[in-house]
Amino acid sequence: MTLARTWSVGLAGVHGAMVDVEVDLSAGVPGVVLVGLPDAVVRQSVDRVRAAVANAGGRWPLRRITIGLSPASMPKQGSGFDLALATAVLAADGAVPAESVGRLVLLGELGLDGSVRAVRGVLPAVLAAARAGHPTAVVPAGNAEEAALVEGVEVLAAGTLAEVVAHLKGRTPLPRHTRRTLPPAPPGPDLGDVVGQPIGRRAVEVAAAGGHHLFLSGPPGAGKTMLAERLPGLLPALDEQEALEVTAIHSVAGTLPPDAPLVTRPTFEAPHHSATMAALVGGGSGLIRPGALCRAHRGVLFLDEAPEFPRAVLDTLRQPLERGSVTISRASGAATFPCRAQLVLAANPCPCASAAGDAACTCSPLERRRYQARLSGPLLDRIDLRVDLPAVTRAAWLEGGTAPEPTAVVAGRVAQARALAAARLSGTGLHLNSQVPGRLLRERWSPPRSALRLVERALERGALSVRGYDRVLRVAWTLADLAGRTVPGADDVAEALGLRLQRAAA
Ligand SMILES: [Zn+2]
Repeated sequence: MTLARTWSVGLAGVHGAMVDVEVDLSAGVPGVVLVGLPDAVVRQSVDRVRAAVANAGGRWPLRRITIGLSPASMPKQGSGFDLALATAVLAADGAVPAESVGRLVLLGELGLDGSVRAVRGVLPAVLAAARAGHPTAVVPAGNAEEAALVEGVEVLAAGTLAEVVAHLKGRTPLPRHTRRTLPPAPPGPDLGDVVGQPIGRRAVEVAAAGGHHLFLSGPPGAGKTMLAERLPGLLPALDEQEALEVTAIHSVAGTLPPDAPLVTRPTFEAPHHSATMAALVGGGSGLIRPGALCRAHRGVLFLDEAPEFPRAVLDTLRQPLERGSVTISRASGAATFPCRAQLVLAANPCPCASAAGDAACTCSPLERRRYQARLSGPLLDRIDLRVDLPAVTRAAWLEGGTAPEPTAVVAGRVAQARALAAARLSGTGLHLNSQVPGRLLRERWSPPRSALRLVERALERGALSVRGYDRVLRVAWTLADLAGRTVPGADDVAEALGLRLQRAAA
């Protein structure tokens, strides 16, 4: 046998595509020829594969070796093709039976010593293999947990190339990995820990119920971060499909915790304001790494000290947040990742960030305005809820009063409100009040005139823009859903107006 073929998977974003790996041995000057657009990393992998074969006790054929990766039009990035390349070479040389690898999917990077190393993106790769009808996938032992999440494909875990060879020769079968029952995800921080801050607590509840983006302004110590961290706990748990989707992103990002292979709770991502565009949105060399925005898919993206982020970086977020996906283009191809994240921005009211609040502020009015203006414009325009949090006074802290409601109670109300909104919006393809376009809102779900007097007056006065008017209606609906009312009343509209006409203005 001088020709052998096997399979691996290439990734574009979180979408895997089958890659046919063919190896032909012919007479001629010994050497390796690669065809099929392999990137620099795949080229290097030939040297790694050669060393790994030798160190695994195999023989590298002293022939002219032609390696083809097809379809040729698909970019092939990353080191995950090593194991398939090595196996195909050994099969072409007759070291393992060629028929044993013809339908097999192999994923993994090889160490020079012949070990099989974990790679990123194994979950979406195995999902693609299952969809294409391949019965068996060999994956690095370090990725076996995530691979086993996929139904309909047998997952074999490999620690070394020698183990794979022994398996294919029918000597020692590789261990079969099945999905294990996972313990429930540990609960996140609880809303019961937040003392005082009735406005802030209300704002995160409303944000969770309607899927609204949220802007929290307030002095240090007002509890902005505490509140934001508790938002994911108020969101419903991910269903199986959503969980696989989010896990696939973390698999490609390389941020999947080894002890929790399936992400079942909405995630919380809080990039620092010094984060680069690539860290926030996605990028990097080789296999494109999704950024914090994509890792927050179906979860929460928290930007603390938002005015400190470069304006260009903040403006980059707007379109992906609107579309729910982000595309990163490179010379070698483009990758698209989903990013339906809920945004929470936090800001101090001024650059001096005095914990004592306005009284001790040393900033000039101009400095304050400039600081707040850094957030103006297109991004803020997408944010339905903007609240000012007062500093928590010592008296309020000491007084304590009744114990604050815990996450479980508030999350129950949120779930009910979401169900009401989903029922009302059924047939539109929308689920949350925050997703309803302004026109649809005004045409189909305008509250009675009597409820709108306040907000119409604000519009006439110029205190509210037309977009601002739509946002007030969206939030009013969420408030009505939370209260179990079938239509927003004047009180809901007034509260919605209050949750938006804060210092940050219309
Ligand atoms: Zn100040």
